[in-house]
Amino acid sequence: MRAEIITIGTELLIGQIVDTNSAHIGRRLTPLGIDLAYVTAVGDSRAEMAETLSLALKRSQIIITTGGLGPTEDDLTREVVSQVAGRNLIFHQHLMDQIEAHFRRRGFQMVASNRRQAFIPDGAIPIENPAGTAPGFILEEEGRALITLPGVPREMEFLMERAVIPYLQKRFAIKEETVQSKVLRVCGLGESSVNDQIADLIQEGENPCIGLLASPGDIKIRIMARGRRPTEAKSLIKEAEARIRDRLGILIYGVDEDTLEGSVTKLLEKMNLTLSTAEPYTGGLIAQRLSGTNSAQFLGGVVLNTEEATRAFLGVGMGEFRKLKREGGEFVHCLAQKARERCQSHLGLSVSGFSEKESSKEGGESKAHLYIGIASEGMKRWIDHHLGGTQKMLRERAAILALDTLRKELSKMTKA
Ligand code: ATP
Repeated sequence: MRAEIITIGTELLIGQIVDTNSAHIGRRLTPLGIDLAYVTAVGDSRAEMAETLSLALKRSQIIITTGGLGPTEDDLTREVVSQVAGRNLIFHQHLMDQIEAHFRRRGFQMVASNRRQAFIPDGAIPIENPAGTAPGFILEEEGRALITLPGVPREMEFLMERAVIPYLQKRFAIKEETVQSKVLRVCGLGESSVNDQIADLIQEGENPCIGLLASPGDIKIRIMARGRRPTEAKSLIKEAEARIRDRLGILIYGVDEDTLEGSVTKLLEKMNLTLSTAEPYTGGLIAQRLSGTNSAQFLGGVVLNTEEATRAFLGVGMGEFRKLKREGGEFVHCLAQKARERCQSHLGLSVSGFSEKESSKEGGESKAHLYIGIASEGMKRWIDHHLGGTQKMLRERAAILALDTLRKELSKMTKA
C-alpha cells in the first residue's frame, strides 16, 4: 500500500521552518506496513497545491497533508482539496461549536474568519480537533484516502494517534506490529566501505530490507522486516543481523539507540574497570561524552589547553617534554598514565594531535597526525592516524576514534 505526505506552507520552502511533521508521520506509518513513497513540500499557492494533490490522487492510496487549515486567506488546503475532488465545501455546525468552545475555554472571543474552519468538502469525514482550532478531515475517493491535518506539530501528532491511525487500521484492515526494525551501529569505517562489505545483502530484496544512514563517525545499518506476526519479522531480522555481524564483526559497536560512549562504559562496567582521560587535543569532548552516560566507571578527565599546562601535568622539564612530544606514541601513553595516576583509575585514555598543514582561512581544512594512547597496569597501547578536515571536525573525529579504539581494546579484553 503506497502512501505519500504533502506538507503545505511557503515557510517550509523558504527555510523558515523545518519539516518535522513528515518525519513523525513516516515513523508512525512504517510499523503499520504502509510504504511511504513520496514526501512533497508545497507553498501556499492554489495552482501548485492543486497540481501536487491531483498527482498524489493518481499515484497513492493514502495521502496525508499537513498545514494550511487555519482561518486566514493563505490557508488554502480545504478549498483546494474540494476543488481537486470536485466537491462543495459544506458547513458543519458541530465543528463550529467546537471551535467556539475552544476559544471560550481560553478566554478569547472567536473572530468571524474562524468560521471558515467549520467547512469541509461534501462527504468528507471530519476529524475533530480538541487540541486546537483547525479540524481536519478524511476524503475517500475511489478507494483512496486523502487525510488533511493541521500543521501545528502537537495538534497533528495528537490527531494522528487519536483519529488517523485507528482509521487506517480499520479502513485498510492493517494490523500493527507487522513491521519490525533494528539498527546496527558501526564505527571505524566510512559509509562506502560499509556499503561495499554488505552491498549484496542490501541488494538482495525487500524483506528484510537493509539500508544505510551515515553521520560523522557513526553509520547506521537499518534492518526492516515484515511478517504476519511480530515473531516472524523478528526472526528475519535476526538472520540478517547474523549475516551482517559475520562481515563487520567488532566494527559494530551497538544497536538501536546505543551510543559509542555508552558501549564503552558498559564494557567498563562488565569488567569493573574505571577510566580517566587527558585531552590536549580534544578539549574535553571525550570527557563530555563519557560523563553524559552517568556511569560511575568514568572518574574524570583533564583538559590541557596549552603546551605549558601539558608539560606541568606530566611533571617533566622542557627538554624531556620536547623529546616525548617528538615520539608521539610515548607522549600519549605518558599522558594516559598520568591521568590514571591522578584519578586512581584502572585505565587512562589520551589523545594528542599534531597539525601537519594548516589552512590560513577560518573554517579551512587542516591535516593532523593523531596519536591515541591507552594505559593500564601492565598495558601500553598507542595508535596513530592521519586525518583531514576543519579544526572542529578534526577534534570531533579524534574523540570518536579514541572512544572507538578503547572500545575495541576492551572488547578484546572481555574475550581474552
Ligand atoms: P493553524 O490554524 O493552527 O495555523 P494550520 O493547519 O493552518 O493550523 P499552518 O498555519 O500551516 O497550520 O502551520 C502552523 C504552524 O505549525 C507553523 O507556523 C509551523 O510552526 C508549524 N508547522 C507547519 N507545518 C509544519 C511541518 N511540516 N513541520 C513542522 N512544523 C510545521
